[in-house]
Amino acid sequence: MPEVTLEGQKKLKGARVLCVGAGGLGSPLALYLAAAGVGTLGIVDFDVVDFTNLQRQILHHTRDVGRRKLDSAVEKLEAVNPFVNIERFDTLLDSSNAIGIFRDFDMVADGTDNFATRYLVNDACVLTGKPNVYASIFRFEGQASIFAAPDGPCYRCLYPTPPPPGLVPSCAEGGVLGVLPGLLGVIQATEVIKLILGTGEPLIGRLLLVDALDMRFRELKVRKNPECPVCGASPTIRELVDYQEFCGIRGEESAKDKAQNVPEIQPEELKRRLDAGESLFVLDVREPHEYAICHLGGHLIPLGELPNRVHELDSSREIVVHCKGGIRSAKAIDLLRQYGFQRTLNLAGGILAWSDKVDPSIPKY
Ligand SMILES: [Zn+2]
Repeated sequence: MPEVTLEGQKKLKGARVLCVGAGGLGSPLALYLAAAGVGTLGIVDFDVVDFTNLQRQILHHTRDVGRRKLDSAVEKLEAVNPFVNIERFDTLLDSSNAIGIFRDFDMVADGTDNFATRYLVNDACVLTGKPNVYASIFRFEGQASIFAAPDGPCYRCLYPTPPPPGLVPSCAEGGVLGVLPGLLGVIQATEVIKLILGTGEPLIGRLLLVDALDMRFRELKVRKNPECPVCGASPTIRELVDYQEFCGIRGEESAKDKAQNVPEIQPEELKRRLDAGESLFVLDVREPHEYAICHLGGHLIPLGELPNRVHELDSSREIVVHCKGGIRSAKAIDLLRQYGFQRTLNLAGGILAWSDKVDPSIPKY
């Protein structure tokens, strides 16, 4: 292309780009960067490929389930371009390692799926002076921008404080349209390549909002906040902080611990007792659309409706409560106890554990 030329191709070859995450966004991002001839790609990921990833994380194939995402990613990227130099970071990015990893790269592309890592990536980018090519996705919507570019705003200028934990469901809980990370990851790759080439108008100071359901793209101006605690005139954050704490996740974890204190029943034990014909009442507190995917024949009352439908339950019977993974059902048991239910058990690991340990024909989602 006349806009790229041999000189541009050499710039790409000489570029060093760090992709944080080899998941939904990281898949198309890294594939296109490898295909474009970016010389060095760093990839940070510590996760393992799961069946539920395959609908959107196109670096990973069915036969990769159970493999490390890094191994799977490197194999696919080298198949696209054997000349790309891939630097592997098989680690959970945190305050202790982010600066050291970021320092050696020209820019960072944030493909993470949680607020704690997003603030961490932002702050580490500001502190090391690396542009942060950002995108995020949820359900049918996505957003993209470039943060921490010289004179440009950062993620904290746009979002000074994280949402309360638990308010915004994760992609795993809330779901995400499979093609959406493809759309946003390709936008990230486009911005990375433009930054490397120094061409076009980059998404600096602009937040691109994508609504896939209505297929509308909107743009918001984002201004640098002179009071920003990390990139403002007199920053108060001069080193990385505890991002779990900043995002209030520590408190959330203790809620999880509390949830784990409810009495549990293991899937194998439930199976044995049901087979023995014991009179157990199985209560399913998931949503109807989840029930439609798979169920154990339990009585369905979604957690949110439980307070109004508690009369449907017989407190004299032993009740086994389950959800998808065991957290919502623990909350349900907490609630039932307040209504005087004494004989309640939480199915450990939810229907997913049932699928793993008792009946593999139950589909996982
Ligand atoms: Zn800022």
